[in-house]
Amino acid sequence: MSIGYKSFHEHSIRDPKSFWSEQAKLVDWHQPFSQVLDYSKPPFAKWFVGGQTNLCHNAVDRHLKDRANQIALVAVSTETNQEHAYTFAELHDEVNRMAAILQANGVKKGDRVLIYMPMIAQACFAMLACTRIGAIHSVVFGGFASHSLASRIDDAKPKMIITAEAGMRGGKAVPYKPLLDEAITLSSAKPEKVLIVNRGLSEYTTVANRDLDYAAEREKHLNAKVPVEWVDATHPSYILYTSGTTGKPKGVQRDTGGYAVALASSMRLIFGGNPGETMFTTSDIGWVVGHSYIIYGPLINGMATIMYEGTPLRPDAGIWWSLVEKYKVSVMFSAPTAVRVLKKQDPAFLSKYNLSTLRTLFLAGEPLDEPTASWIHDALKKPVVDNYWQTETGWPILAIQRGVEVMPHKFGSPGVPVYGYNMKLLDEATGAELGPDQKGVVAIEGPLPPGCMQTVWGDDQRFIKTYWETVPGKMVYSTFDWAIKDKDGYFFILGRTDDVINVAGHRLGTREIEESISSHANVAEVAVVGVEDQLKGQVAIGFVIAKDPSKTANLEAEVMKTVDSQLGAVARPARVYMVSALPKTRSGKIVRRALQAVAEGRDPGDISTMEDQSVLAQIKHVVGK
Ligand code: AMP
Repeated sequence: MSIGYKSFHEHSIRDPKSFWSEQAKLVDWHQPFSQVLDYSKPPFAKWFVGGQTNLCHNAVDRHLKDRANQIALVAVSTETNQEHAYTFAELHDEVNRMAAILQANGVKKGDRVLIYMPMIAQACFAMLACTRIGAIHSVVFGGFASHSLASRIDDAKPKMIITAEAGMRGGKAVPYKPLLDEAITLSSAKPEKVLIVNRGLSEYTTVANRDLDYAAEREKHLNAKVPVEWVDATHPSYILYTSGTTGKPKGVQRDTGGYAVALASSMRLIFGGNPGETMFTTSDIGWVVGHSYIIYGPLINGMATIMYEGTPLRPDAGIWWSLVEKYKVSVMFSAPTAVRVLKKQDPAFLSKYNLSTLRTLFLAGEPLDEPTASWIHDALKKPVVDNYWQTETGWPILAIQRGVEVMPHKFGSPGVPVYGYNMKLLDEATGAELGPDQKGVVAIEGPLPPGCMQTVWGDDQRFIKTYWETVPGKMVYSTFDWAIKDKDGYFFILGRTDDVINVAGHRLGTREIEESISSHANVAEVAVVGVEDQLKGQVAIGFVIAKDPSKTANLEAEVMKTVDSQLGAVARPARVYMVSALPKTRSGKIVRRALQAVAEGRDPGDISTMEDQSVLAQIKHVVGK
């Protein structure tokens, strides 16, 4: 059935109240809302005011009536060779046990619980247990190390932290517990309790009166029934930290009701998943895609979801497709980098399995290049749908919304604005709206639709200042992405307007990496830029001025180690070059664009504002371009 994209989108913008009250029927309300939208204090949008609901109820409890024995969650680890499927009834039991553990240890509605876990079923239980009792979870990606964790602990001030003693990657145990212990030492906010899922992968020490063993705690609550805490639609469900232009990550705060509605509607209109089917999203719960489309989206929609711990290549490059066959996956969601990794392998892996249940592959998180898109499209012979969004929005901004209208795809474009988003392409300098094929900043006129960030956790002013005051003369939300729009309204994303880089679909702030590198005793000055990479889209490259240039023999390796131990290997620069000067403007600002151009072997363009233009010649020499 085709609703007609144009009129559907237009309705969502012209009359958001009637539009979203219709979509709100997709979720259960304990108490109906009295007001669809309160936008009396822009840019703060309050959706479904007066309504009470619960994410865990919508994801789990409400399916018990019809789907108690249907699979809800499959946790697959090709690292530990374990595979466990939970029905909705079993998931309900496990979530209740976890919720009882939280309550028994003093966690109440509104308290924060930090989750630092690998891709194991208990991470899903933990997230759902938090939302069940109205606690606010903050999942921190398991690849982040102690400093990244500490800054998040300090900001969220969690009452409890849930972790596992280790993850596993490429057959090797990756300890989590010691990094967490170090992070707690570094942070000034201290959690009262730390709950540890012991997987038997690595030794660890415990802290008396603080550390709890999950298996022992679970035994105490085997028959627990923890009632759902009905919360206001505007009650925060979670905080998810994301990088920006400063060294301090921003806590993206999400509501409850708006998020539930946005996800439920996107599952039908964008992802085309049906209750009873299986969705396989290959991301990690530490990222927004994991929150929305590993955990909440599919479960709210009554679908089974697959959590996967492992790489796409072990035991061989057919592993993901074998899961598609085994669990009859109908909707798959991955990232261009993963497809580029698979593209290097034997294409026979794709034809080895029966993929007849798979309807659509969704890709997001970074630009989808033409060769990658064509390769996977030709190999699968299924629609490949690029979609563009951000941690801040929680669900797609641009996509071909196949449940609304099957519009043609254009290579290089994630498509057209998703319903609910009033998108503008604006001139950065004047704020004027641009016409077809003119390059501008992608902006969204308020109110942001349901599901988008409410504010920056604990810092409303930062929310306004960071996102809503960057375009002259207009209060609009900036995505910080450049784009052009063609005459048919398709957007083509051209890269970030700020210093955020995108490594394998993971967003990293160059400032954070610079701050970490600066902490090395022999670093006087540093600049980090993102440089094009065939596999990962971009990689971070560092340029360092040493305090003592006679001691730089091992500096590159030491700097990488520093970043590994503070931020995690995910943020490690691919190269660190020693230089004697950095290109700067007369006012002393590092000209990163020029550094990036030179590192990519491109012409740096207009460098007339640069203080000393000979610096670039040295950089060119050092990078060998
Ligand atoms: P994150 O918040 O980590 O998901 O990163 C969001 C950023 O990733 C966006 O602002 C874009 O720069 C980039 N991005 C996400 N999806 C796409 C896409 N489909 N095409 C191009 N860039 C994308």
